[in-house]
Amino acid sequence: REATARAAAGAPANTRDGVTIEVAANLGTVTDAAEAAAAGADAAGLVRTEFLFVNRAEPPSVSEQERAYRELAEGLGHRPLTLRTLDVGGDKPVPFLPTGQEANPFLGLRGIRLSLARPEILRDQLVAACRVAHDSPVRLMFPMVATRDEVTAALALLDEAITVVGAGRPAGLEVGIMVEVPAAALRVAAFAPLVDFVSIGTNDLTQYTLAAERGNPSVAALADPLDPAVLRLIDEVCRAAPSSVRVAVCGELAADEVAVPVLVGLGVRELSVVPAAVPMVKQAVRQVDLAAAVPLAARAVTLPSAAEVRTLLAGD
Ligand code: PEP
Ligand code: MG
Repeated sequence: REATARAAAGAPANTRDGVTIEVAANLGTVTDAAEAAAAGADAAGLVRTEFLFVNRAEPPSVSEQERAYRELAEGLGHRPLTLRTLDVGGDKPVPFLPTGQEANPFLGLRGIRLSLARPEILRDQLVAACRVAHDSPVRLMFPMVATRDEVTAALALLDEAITVVGAGRPAGLEVGIMVEVPAAALRVAAFAPLVDFVSIGTNDLTQYTLAAERGNPSVAALADPLDPAVLRLIDEVCRAAPSSVRVAVCGELAADEVAVPVLVGLGVRELSVVPAAVPMVKQAVRQVDLAAAVPLAARAVTLPSAAEVRTLLAGD
C-alpha cells in the first residue's frame, strides 16, 4: 500500500487538459532531500545553500560543498537539483562576509551582489556544483539579480569554474536566475539569451514591489503576493520568456492552493514549495483546467486589490 501511495505521489502533475507542471521542493538542509523525494517532488526547485555558510567562521571548502551537493542529489534520487548560489547579506549576515553598516540591508550588499564582491567564494561554490553536475542534473540559480551585467559576470565565473573542473561543460548543467527584484521582472527578454530558466521569488518580489519589508508586522497587510501589482509582474515575466526559458515560482505563493490556477494560468510551468506541500500542490494542479485558468488569471491581474483577487479565487 505504501508503494502505491508513493507511486501516486510521484506521478506527474498534469492539468485536466494535459499540461505537465513540475512540482518541486524547496530544501534548506541535506536531510530535506529524502523527505522531498518521499513526498513525490519532481525536482528540487530551490536549495537554499546558506545552510552551509551560516554559523561558522570560514566558508566551507570546495570538497565539503561537493559532498553536501552529492548527498542532496542522492537523497533526491538524482532528480534535478536547483542549487541557488549563496544568498546572504541583508538580513542574513555571515561573519566572513562583512557588508559594513547598512541603513537598509534589504537594499544593500546581498545575494549576487555580495557574491560578485567576493568572487573567490562564488567560484568555489560553482566548482563544487560543476563537479556534481557531471554525475547528476544540476540547475544553477543566481539570487537577487537586478541587471544583465550581474548575470554576465556570474557566467564568466561559471566558465572559470568549468575550466577548473575540466572535462568540459557538464551535460546536465542548466543555468537560471531568480526573478525577485522588479527590475529583473521587467527585463526578462534581456536575460533570456543567457539562461535556461527563471524562478520567481515571490517573497522578495512582493517586498520590493510594495516597498513593504518582509517579516515586518506593521506592513504585513500590504505585502500580499496576490496584490495585482505582483501578479502583473509575474504576467510580464511569463509573456517575455521565450518558449526556451522555463518559468518557475519558488516563493511561498506557489504553496497557496488558491494561487495555483492563477500562476498556471499566467504561464508558470514549475512550482517549488516546502516538501510537505508537494502532494497538495500536485492535487491542486490536477484540478486546473487551462481553458478556465487563463481567463481567470487575466482577470485577476486587472482587479483593484489583493482582497478582490482573493474573493475572485474563493468563488472559483
Ligand atoms: C523568495 O524571495 O521568494 C525566495 C524564494 O527566496 P528567499 O525566501 O530565500 O529569499
Ligand atoms: Mg529571495
